[in-house]
Amino acid sequence: MSASCSRPACQRSPAATLTYDYASRVATVDHLAPSHPMQYDLCVEHTERLSVPNGWSLVDRRIGNVVDLHGQLAS
Ligand SMILES: [Zn+2]
Repeated sequence: MSASCSRPACQRSPAATLTYDYASRVATVDHLAPSHPMQYDLCVEHTERLSVPNGWSLVDRRIGNVVDLHGQLAS
């Protein structure tokens, strides 16, 4: 993970990791992950304000993790 948000002039601590999948045109928000050339760390504010280009979808896997947790409890 980075020391601060990837957006220019933003010094806030990163809260989530953003990954762009150019092949399937999906932008994924995930929990903070170790730095990778295809990933960007964003602070809370920039994660909330995130928008994706036309034709892209935005997936928030942080919500998916909660669902997975419930699945484990149920089984
Ligand atoms: Zn930021």
